Amino acid sequence: MKESPVRYPSLSSKFPLGPFTLKNRLIMAPIVTGMETTVNISVIRDFYEKRAAGGAAMVTVSEAIIDKGGRRFAYEHAFTEDDVALHKPVVKAIHKHDSLAVLQLEHLGIDADVQVAISTVSAQSRVTGRHGWPARNTELKRLVDLYGRVALLAIEAMYDGVEIDGSGSGLIADFLSPVTNRRLDEWGRTQLARFKLALDVVRSVRKSIGENRLIGFRFNLCEVHAKGADWAEIKRLIQMLRMAGVDYLACDFGNRYVPMPMKGYAVAPGAFFDDYMALSEIAEMPVVFGKELASMEKMEAIAAMNDAAIFEVAEPLIADPAFIVKSLSGQEELVNACTRCMIGCIKKNNHPNEPISCLVNPYLFESQEVLEKPAARPKEIAVVGSGIAGLFFSLTAARRGHKIHLFEKSEKIGGMLRMMGRIPGRELFLPWLERIEKELESLGVVIRTNTPATKELLTERHFDEYVIAAGATPRVPDIDGIDSSNVLTYEELLADQMAVGDRVAVLGTNTIGLAVARYLACGQREVAFSDAQAWRNAWGIGSVKENKGGVLGVIPEIAPPVRQVYLMERNEEETKQLLYIRTKLCDWKWLRMKGVQTFRGVNFELIDNYSIHVSRGEHHRDPVTIPITHVVVCWERSPNRSIYYALLTAGKKVHSIGTCAEDSMNRNLVSISSEARLLALKL
Ligand code: SF4
Repeated sequence: MKESPVRYPSLSSKFPLGPFTLKNRLIMAPIVTGMETTVNISVIRDFYEKRAAGGAAMVTVSEAIIDKGGRRFAYEHAFTEDDVALHKPVVKAIHKHDSLAVLQLEHLGIDADVQVAISTVSAQSRVTGRHGWPARNTELKRLVDLYGRVALLAIEAMYDGVEIDGSGSGLIADFLSPVTNRRLDEWGRTQLARFKLALDVVRSVRKSIGENRLIGFRFNLCEVHAKGADWAEIKRLIQMLRMAGVDYLACDFGNRYVPMPMKGYAVAPGAFFDDYMALSEIAEMPVVFGKELASMEKMEAIAAMNDAAIFEVAEPLIADPAFIVKSLSGQEELVNACTRCMIGCIKKNNHPNEPISCLVNPYLFESQEVLEKPAARPKEIAVVGSGIAGLFFSLTAARRGHKIHLFEKSEKIGGMLRMMGRIPGRELFLPWLERIEKELESLGVVIRTNTPATKELLTERHFDEYVIAAGATPRVPDIDGIDSSNVLTYEELLADQMAVGDRVAVLGTNTIGLAVARYLACGQREVAFSDAQAWRNAWGIGSVKENKGGVLGVIPEIAPPVRQVYLMERNEEETKQLLYIRTKLCDWKWLRMKGVQTFRGVNFELIDNYSIHVSRGEHHRDPVTIPITHVVVCWERSPNRSIYYALLTAGKKVHSIGTCAEDSMNRNLVSISSEARLLALKL
């Protein structure tokens, strides 16, 4: 990498943290990868080492489960002596790059994935659906000692310290919160009693690891709940944590149950900066700013005026392990930028065995040797289609030395991704596509846009192999009047930019349907996704300093919709399944706030130029006629396989990937990019 002047002097400067010094002020946030098992320790080592080598001044490794009863997922086990030897190579790999390594200590409360979870009081988990019980006095005392023991094991594994997680829906967070801790004993009777578990744990850990190791404490700075802690309580807690031996603070906002998005495209960058600033004014110790960071420029400005601020990075480091070193050296154009899509990088409770993934980085857990291994015999390969499958196949194959010819029927590469880039919250897909195009060109990929791939064109010269990634075409449902001039597909709406009127029905509540409804209701830009104050006003979030629990307590302000949208679905069950996904649930709430009306489980009887007629059930009861100007169809899609069959019958060696593959149903963008990468590594 070429030498550049220091672009961000404050962020690049060294930073004293407890008995240590950070090489810069950007650290890696804890990320639950789903790979935290003993068999995957080499994968985990590579994962963290790449981020340390990529500039992270400190890496917080996630996560040491204190006791089996507090595990997040069934595959996790309690951290014991056996884990010390397994973690040593991870820590060594991080230290090799002059980065600190800290282990996060975790014990979940009511949401733990065990038969009988413990919490403050008897309650039912909304995550597991199981009933949890109040932890007994002896149990809590045992846990306090266990925290100390596990922290000591972390030090034996050569970690520089530990981060105690008292945030989210962890057991410590449950005990700290006035909302969830309604105990009447010494662990909850008063404010100080609610602090007791957190403070006892910190003291136990400090006693175990001594003075020359780090203790970080992560807590819910703002619960986004009207009965949450007020500012006086937060100040008191911070003071007591400091006295108990905490070296730095990290924060979370809300808990698992907050009704609004807390991450990703639907949160304005820097939405929580004012709260972090308020905390750093009273903390008298370093404060880790995180949660939807804004631009590097904004972070540099904060670092320049706030001596207590360091910054933790999560998703940008998933997308590009070298995000920090590239950004600090002024080579941001080389960053494989996170699109804030949240499509793959949230560990899903309903798929506990699936590791996280990333839309723009399908190489997340790939070892460097595999990635850099050149092809045994470089080939000439024709790729049809430049959606996510075609792009990642071309990129990976070209890096391995194959000569790629990429055929795209549209004017620009990107396929579905480019279409989605027009939707508010998905705008970052577009600059990412520009960057990928440049990289493909630099790898010598021949890109032929405006070129529909025909059998004649593809066979007029020799190719060793063909990869068909031609995507899918929206399926038009069989409804009376579907051929009316006011009916269009999502492709015609997004790609061809066809104009629509002020009352639009969207048929289909799948991922595309929700996104199209957002596009129609918000217009091309949603200010609340980009402006921090507008975002807070929309969700009714106040200042943590002035509003108890961070709740404004007034009617939220939200920009009015640009048109009336009706979201309609035949199959109620499908919609229910979708709403189990938290990001989709938040999308749904946002649409309702934008006045979108939903009709689930309806029969579509007729579409005419002015209305859509629907009814319910097999007896077609409750008929309703809804006046509309347009209908947008977001139905299932049919794979485009004709060119695949044509080449196959011509005796060519041909593969199909992505949504045009035979079994393409239920594939999401992340699984498609991963499939493309695997094929490219095989050829
Ligand atoms: S999946 Fe999306 S949000 Fe997550 S790291 Fe990748 S690009 Fe960013």
